[in-house]
Amino acid sequence: MQTMAQYDWRVSEPKWQAKWKEWEIHRFDPKSKAEVFSIDNPPRYASGALHLGHAYGYTVIDFAARYKRLKGHNVFFPLCFDVNGMPVEVRVEKVKGIKASEVPRQEFIRMCSEFAEAHIGEMTGQFEILGESMDPSIYYQTDAEYYRRVTQISFIRMFKKGLVYKGHFPVNWCTRCGTALADAEVNYEQRTTKLNYIVFKEVESGREIQIATTRPELLCTCLLVAVNPEDQSTSHLVGKELVTPVYNRKVKVVADPKVDPNFGTGIVMICSIGDKDDLEWIMKYGLPLEKGIDEDGKMTELAGKYVGMPVLDARKVIIDDMKAAGLLVKQEPLEQNTGNCWRCHTPIEFLKVPQWFIKSVEFKDRVLKMVDDIVWKPEFMKIRIKDWVNSLAWDWVVSRQRYFATAIPLWECADCGSVLLAEEDECYVDPTVRAPRKEKCEVCGGKYVGSTDVFDTWMDSSISPLYNAFWTRDDKMFEKLYPMTLRPQSHDIIRTWAYYTILREMHLTGQKPWDEVMIHGFIMAPDGRPMHASSGNTIDPMPLLEKYGGDAMRYYASTCALGMDHAFKEQELVRGNRLSTKTWNVIRLVGSACKEKPRKPRKMHPIDGWILSKFGDLVREVEKCNEEYQFDRSMAMIQDFLWHKFADHYVELAKHRAYSEDDEGSRYALYTVGLGLLKLISVFLPHVAEDAYQESFKAHEKAISIHVSGWPEAPAKDDALEKKGEIVKDIVAGIRSWKSAKGISLNADISRVEIVGTGSEDLLSGSEEDVRQTVKAKVLKVLDKVKLVESIAKIKPVYSKLGPAFKKDAKEIAEKMQATKMDGMPDSDAPLEIILGDGRKLSIGPEFFELEKKVSSERGELEHISAGSLSILIYS
Ligand SMILES: [Zn+2]
Ligand SMILES: [Zn+2]
Repeated sequence: MQTMAQYDWRVSEPKWQAKWKEWEIHRFDPKSKAEVFSIDNPPRYASGALHLGHAYGYTVIDFAARYKRLKGHNVFFPLCFDVNGMPVEVRVEKVKGIKASEVPRQEFIRMCSEFAEAHIGEMTGQFEILGESMDPSIYYQTDAEYYRRVTQISFIRMFKKGLVYKGHFPVNWCTRCGTALADAEVNYEQRTTKLNYIVFKEVESGREIQIATTRPELLCTCLLVAVNPEDQSTSHLVGKELVTPVYNRKVKVVADPKVDPNFGTGIVMICSIGDKDDLEWIMKYGLPLEKGIDEDGKMTELAGKYVGMPVLDARKVIIDDMKAAGLLVKQEPLEQNTGNCWRCHTPIEFLKVPQWFIKSVEFKDRVLKMVDDIVWKPEFMKIRIKDWVNSLAWDWVVSRQRYFATAIPLWECADCGSVLLAEEDECYVDPTVRAPRKEKCEVCGGKYVGSTDVFDTWMDSSISPLYNAFWTRDDKMFEKLYPMTLRPQSHDIIRTWAYYTILREMHLTGQKPWDEVMIHGFIMAPDGRPMHASSGNTIDPMPLLEKYGGDAMRYYASTCALGMDHAFKEQELVRGNRLSTKTWNVIRLVGSACKEKPRKPRKMHPIDGWILSKFGDLVREVEKCNEEYQFDRSMAMIQDFLWHKFADHYVELAKHRAYSEDDEGSRYALYTVGLGLLKLISVFLPHVAEDAYQESFKAHEKAISIHVSGWPEAPAKDDALEKKGEIVKDIVAGIRSWKSAKGISLNADISRVEIVGTGSEDLLSGSEEDVRQTVKAKVLKVLDKVKLVESIAKIKPVYSKLGPAFKKDAKEIAEKMQATKMDGMPDSDAPLEIILGDGRKLSIGPEFFELEKKVSSERGELEHISAGSLSILIYS
């Protein structure tokens, strides 16, 4: 006998990955007339390391791409990378041990570019290992001049539409990164800080007034003190003047309803500028903006002796000084929600550094309308973007004081500040390198200086649908591709990537960017907590991929419900491998039975019709779930069908016929369902599906690869055959589990089986031989009625009850019980009469014994089980 071949993913996965590349089966065809399904694929950040979140997220997107390709769409699924911005800069600074500001600008940009470039090949390889079907023919990376050019043009157009302005008010500022940040880049985290009770003096009376503050270092810019008008304990201060400690500055006390009377002493000092509340007060009371902290996070001259100290040092020293001078009464720990830089976690300062803004607050309603015009999957994610849009209080600050990003295409006059905007045909332009096209300022004759500011990276990534759709480059393609079909992304970038894209595309095209958004969740550590390097619970997916392969990881992704966060389970990869092996083995069996493509026969056994009809249901259900991107549901149904309905039941029932010449029906069903099932699975486990397809079907099918072989046709539903098939399935399952329970091998013969019940002949007609062969019965009869006699085979003592009740007599009672012979069926509640050796006569209640029954017919003793309304009599 030939040894059974085995599926080996280690050999097959790289083999098919190479073939797919060679065949270019994932290529978008710009000339095709087929309906386009375009995916605004998230450009993967060029950081190198693949984490589980990537492996999962991109795989879910790939499910959609592969499904739509099978459905006959012309799928647009670009391979793309995001190669901009602070994370790369921060990594380069760390790796090289330098600070960006200390290296020549162009030199630093070059280092960043090299760093990112070095990772792109590696990251492309990781996508291939995972079997992602991205298309390199529509490749892009966001730092390339061809991409940045489009970013600049989009800015120029918005500028000309009056949607861009330079704002001269405070913005979120990271002193470590030395740049402005948008609200969406500020992360709020709980921190424990100290609330310091410091002493002010009332000018008039010289009385001491305590004020609690978390930021005593800002005292140098204290301009006002406020109390709540309703607070009787402090209202006497309103209109009075106080003297600040350390700086001895006279400040007024005002009544303001925004003051929380329960915080600290109910008196607040208003500084310029601690946070957004401070800013509101400064505007409201017309106070000057004093800058106590500079862009590097150091105290300015206003801080007097603390000048030049970093904020935290200054806070420590000023507290020590006040303590020594008796100006600090006490300190209390305080849990505070502080805003931090998304990248480096440094607490955000609020600084006045002029920045470029894109108008957004005044467009809230239009954005919200557009949000409603897009289909969100799952739908509850729509709430998140609506909440964010509704909460917006500020326009989007798009300039950054960084390096490795798209340059802002303009020059400013050094004398009067007027702006010379680049022309579209000058782009891509770096104004720090390129001379302006006008020598002198048009307004004052002064000198133009190229903007050293760069764009927020979301300025690049938020035009990805425009870039993908050939905006400003090819009007015909734009018509064909815009709006795009699908934006897939994770939920953490709803307020950035999703929101900014809608805003930008609304400003630039007046149209929504996509028809649908699919939002997936996060992969958490096995204990359910978020994975963080600092928690030491991150899982590197590469060793898992080496251990289990790409299909196994994809299987894991297919078990995760869309939009939810999921704790990682390595066990699922083991199950994925098992499913691959099962799939391959079952299809191999189909292939060995079908040496050519079977035609649809005129007559089939009921069980053949049953599996076809059931498969039709499966195709329709999977299609429904795939359309909603509920891939976990699809996978659950496919698996159940493959393991149970198809492999366990149908194949077992049909295999005795499948090799016989004159039985086309079983081969037709095996082939149709086998190939169709493989197509459904190919979306999730593309490697094993391809391997099995090439081995068992390719010789009879036209498509070069299963992935371009088309979605399976769903066989029509046939209720009558399904009903007949179900009962056959139940009978076989019943007899098989009876065999297992009895410890009998599934292949062991049974001498006779009778299937008994009203209507049984109709239900079983045409299936008798399938059942008989499958359960290995020598004789199978289908009967309306059989006369059965029940009798007692044995009386079994219940020792656990006899012992405590009868003590030393228990043993003898048990022996007598077992020796008792009974005729017919006694009343099950009747006691048992026992005469002991010493003549005592006992009446033993039914709780002390069990009656083991036997059933027989005129043919002899039999075992009796049931399947639905039918009885199965087994004569072993
Ligand atoms: Zn930072
Ligand atoms: Zn000028």
